[in-house]
Amino acid sequence: MTSSQPSPSYIIVGAGVFGTSTALHLATKFPDSSITLIDRDAHTAQSRVAASWDWNKVVRADYRNLVYCRLALEAQDVWRADPLWRPFYRETGIYWISRTGFARQVLDNYARLGRATDGMRIVPVEEAKRLYGGIFDGADYTGVENVLVNETSGWADAKGALQAVTEKAVEKGVRFVAAEIEELSFGEDGECVGVLTKDGEIYTATHTILSTGAFTPKLLDRMSQKTGRDEFLAGDRMIAAGVTTGLAQLDDSTAEEFSGMPVGIQENDPERGASNGALPPTKDKKLKWWGQCIFKNTQTMPSGRQISAPPAFTDYSQWTIPDTLVQDLEFANKATFGKRGEAWKVSEHRICWDAVTPSEDFIISPHPASKGLYVATCGSFHGWKFFPVIGEYVTRMLDGSLESELQRRWAWNRERPDPTGNKVWPVKELRDL
Ligand SMILES: Cc1cc2nc3c(=O)[nH]c(=O)nc-3n(C[C@H](O)[C@H](O)[C@H](O)COP(=O)(O)OP(=O)(O)OC[C@H]3O[C@@H](n4cnc5c(N)ncnc54)[C@H](O)[C@@H]3O)c2cc1C
Repeated sequence: MTSSQPSPSYIIVGAGVFGTSTALHLATKFPDSSITLIDRDAHTAQSRVAASWDWNKVVRADYRNLVYCRLALEAQDVWRADPLWRPFYRETGIYWISRTGFARQVLDNYARLGRATDGMRIVPVEEAKRLYGGIFDGADYTGVENVLVNETSGWADAKGALQAVTEKAVEKGVRFVAAEIEELSFGEDGECVGVLTKDGEIYTATHTILSTGAFTPKLLDRMSQKTGRDEFLAGDRMIAAGVTTGLAQLDDSTAEEFSGMPVGIQENDPERGASNGALPPTKDKKLKWWGQCIFKNTQTMPSGRQISAPPAFTDYSQWTIPDTLVQDLEFANKATFGKRGEAWKVSEHRICWDAVTPSEDFIISPHPASKGLYVATCGSFHGWKFFPVIGEYVTRMLDGSLESELQRRWAWNRERPDPTGNKVWPVKELRDL
């Protein structure tokens, strides 16, 4: 490096799994560099807008796609073994109710990757209903022949892991700043030199990484308006989409009965739409469901453009739930537990916003509109489980060593399939629900 080149420094906007994992991996790889992680919510806040902040998330390598299967297996190895991650991981197994041949594909992928399939079974429905004390015997099995049981999958305490990993990154020298980023800052040649907060603070770095989840298209729209350059716009590369979660408080005896429960998922299929399902009870005995209705929230931006973004309140109005979405959760409950679920009242609803791409592939890429600007987000409703490893891939993208297949897959500019057949691509508008 010549003396005229500044040593690399990093600003990461957004402390969800993409941003926090990147901060941790950068701090591990380059312990002497300056790394600033900025989020509108403090990492210790009681409530956050991040998709990554949640009671629990499914951790599985059960994928049709071989690339994500491989990546998820790599992440799971860390979840199981590493003292930083292990306390948050629960290998309860997953019970997949699927109508699409998914089970066979998952088993084939494990075999192709040379992984053991001992803990995986394809079980005929009548036999499956008797597993786990029969807790899923009332589920909806319409059109289902077999259930996939993968005992080597599970879930993780999402809030707990996010906070602990942020603290580990800070311990390694990352500066955490709670501030809302209003704009990016540019140098004389149009290069990105940092960010400006809503309170007027300026932070500068040679590398600015946007890990801003569902807020990304809105932020980029602002940058396009400011610079007069359309190249900033997300366009049809990603869309902010919402899904609803809800929790029910179990009594002590039901919590005890369900303590050995695996994650239960009705897998998405072309006829029925996106998946729904339930996660085993948390420490405080709460059972969680997610719904299958996926929606957007198209608004007119100050630029005049129509863009889907989370509601424009500091908490994304995530605790305000229309009746239709409450019913969507009731449907998930019924599909998983049948009549038995009627005894539980799903309360504590939350709308969770994520950035979704047409192919459900992440974007981990330089942003071609400005040197020094990068994007690492778009979890597309499946990004959380990669938390332990995704930052390693972002650092490879930053230093140019990301393998070419992943470069192409995660590029800002890549071929984009028609999202019509994609069940997690939102069609409905929040205001119509
Ligand atoms: C209901 C639901 C269930 C899911 N379940 C699973 C699951 O079981 N397993 C799984 O693997 N994945 C799951 N996902 C997907 C996963 O949660 C997301 O893909 C992942 O968390 C996205 O991470 P992120 O870092 O890109 O974004 P986020 O976690 O949303 O983080 C973005 C951060 O950017 C900050 N930010 C945005 N704009 C600004 C700004 N202008 N200034 C400052 N800060 C800003 C936000 O405050 C936020 O903290 C689920 C998603 C949802 C919505």
